[in-house]
Amino acid sequence: MKLSDKQLKLVDAQIKRLIKTDSFYGKKYRELGITGCECEEDFKKLPFSSKDELRLAYPLGIQAVDDKDVVRIHSSSGTTGKPVIIPYTQKDVDDWATMFARCYETAGINKTDRIQITPGYGLWTAGIGFQAGCEKLGAMAVPMGPGNTEKQLQMMIDLKTTVIAATSSYALLLSEEITKRGLRDQIFLKKGVIGSERWSETMRQTIRRNLGISLYDIYGLTEIYGPGIGISCDEENGMHYWDDYIFIEIIDPVTGENVPDGESGEIVITTLVKEGAPLLRFRTHDLSRIIPGECKCGSKYPRLDIISGRSDDMFKIHGVNLFPSQIEAILGMVDGVGSEYRIILARDNDTKKDVLHITAEAEGRVDFAQTGMSLTKLCKSRLGVTPKIAIVPVGSLARSEKKTKRVDDQRS
Ligand code: ZN
Repeated sequence: MKLSDKQLKLVDAQIKRLIKTDSFYGKKYRELGITGCECEEDFKKLPFSSKDELRLAYPLGIQAVDDKDVVRIHSSSGTTGKPVIIPYTQKDVDDWATMFARCYETAGINKTDRIQITPGYGLWTAGIGFQAGCEKLGAMAVPMGPGNTEKQLQMMIDLKTTVIAATSSYALLLSEEITKRGLRDQIFLKKGVIGSERWSETMRQTIRRNLGISLYDIYGLTEIYGPGIGISCDEENGMHYWDDYIFIEIIDPVTGENVPDGESGEIVITTLVKEGAPLLRFRTHDLSRIIPGECKCGSKYPRLDIISGRSDDMFKIHGVNLFPSQIEAILGMVDGVGSEYRIILARDNDTKKDVLHITAEAEGRVDFAQTGMSLTKLCKSRLGVTPKIAIVPVGSLARSEKKTKRVDDQRS
């Protein structure tokens, strides 16, 4: 993907504005002698920005406007170390809502829809992004926030909500509850807008089967506005993203070099018009690829494939590099096995060897011992690793309203 002339001009303007400020990146670019970005080569020479740098700039070091121009902050969850704080100007907040409304439109959602918003409100960008986009579109927001399944189902029925906004894991939980309670004829849901964490095909099929709705993947991250910078369309062939607001390149996560369109790698994002905290060449650690060519839906916006994983989710066991998506693919191959799972990496102190533990859910109709053996065999033949597998009944593993952490490395 090459920058258009218009995008280059916007990047150039961002840099010229940044170096006049005392912000983290203003100082960094000044020190590196960066004065602008006139051509593709200049752009390729710009250093990457990263979440670690944003942590160094905590709390407001990346702010690139006067205090009087900041109207809001958001913060990304800090599972390790300091959180990251992102300041927004009024224009940033408006732009984000405009992008989000465009997402809803791409998913065929309009003013007559009622959108039940289950992601959390507050410091993180999820709930409020869904809300602002919904209001900008002119649809009716039902701002539930996470949890309280009883109330969620009651509102869904009484208010006849037509769209559910949720993480994949919470959408799965709601769909299971609706099925279990036989509420399917009382709900009016048509569409689900699902947060962009990586989720398996099995999970997608389960939600679809339980609710009979169309599902759309929405993409975004707090550092770059929040969810709403891209969404899948009815073609279900990747997510359109808004290249008038962001520029996306895909790099080899090890070498940092750009890969050709169509090849997988790490998503790197440049904000083109952000004011409060512009980021150039931000490494997301999300893995995907640019889908070349135009979409059959007719939209001219470029496409990213759905997120296949995180470059930092990769784990190494017995000398083999593995991604959770590879385990998911194997779970999807065995009859009766569900879509939720947990991976624990542990050290066996007696044998001095690492052990891969996988807990998977299966339907009550299948033989758990047999199922465990089938999974073990498949892991051995396809991944070259022999795990210890525990099978538990469907519904045993915790469902979360936030992104679920599925790999727990206890070896250190
Ligand atoms: Zn499309």
